[in-house]
Amino acid sequence: MKAKTQLFLDPNQPIATCTASTCRDCPAGKIVHCHFHAAELMQFILMVIPAFLIAAAGIWRVGGWPWLAGWFVLLPLYFGGLEIRVMCSHCPHYAEPGNSLKCWANYGAPKLWRYRPGPMSKTENFLFFSGFILVFGMPLIFLILGAAWFLLMVYLFSLAAFWSTLITFLCSQCMNFACPLNHVSKANRQAFFKRNPSVAQAWGWKEKE
Ligand code: SF4
Ligand code: SF4
Repeated sequence: MKAKTQLFLDPNQPIATCTASTCRDCPAGKIVHCHFHAAELMQFILMVIPAFLIAAAGIWRVGGWPWLAGWFVLLPLYFGGLEIRVMCSHCPHYAEPGNSLKCWANYGAPKLWRYRPGPMSKTENFLFFSGFILVFGMPLIFLILGAAWFLLMVYLFSLAAFWSTLITFLCSQCMNFACPLNHVSKANRQAFFKRNPSVAQAWGWKEKE
């Protein structure tokens, strides 16, 4: 029989790194987000889209099409390439079978590299933030150089709204503890580590007697 293509992981099925037999009543599942749904993907897109639209409008107004095209090339290179390599390849979700991610951000990004559990290196952190600054800083420079003050204010506001929503609602329960934006507390990570021993081992975590 032909296997059904799933857009998201089965919410009742433990993830690839998890050794539990079921997700039912799992305390870790209440703290850390192991499965993703279409509503969360939509929520993420709605969160990020205002900042991107304003950024694109600012670059186009001040620099014109060539610069906007350059920025459009930068986006998939960073979010579909560099960020996946330096940050997402450390995420337990990356260990799932399949050639692309099925999560609430970066959905559909190809998995070109191997899964590498454990923390990000200093170089990876540097590249992660450099790309971030480039993607979100480029519109800022254009808006300032073009003295587009109103657009600049709206851009800064949309960025602040995006960041605060991201940190509060997503990073606070994300299972990629390697990400520098991750906000899951040490105490809450324990519950996830207990069911995901290979991840725990990569982090050098040992359960206390
Ligand atoms: S830790 Fe394992 S059992 Fe618990 S919700 Fe996540 S995948 Fe399911
Ligand atoms: S870190 Fe976030 S965006 Fe990357 S694979 Fe994990 S859940 Fe998806």
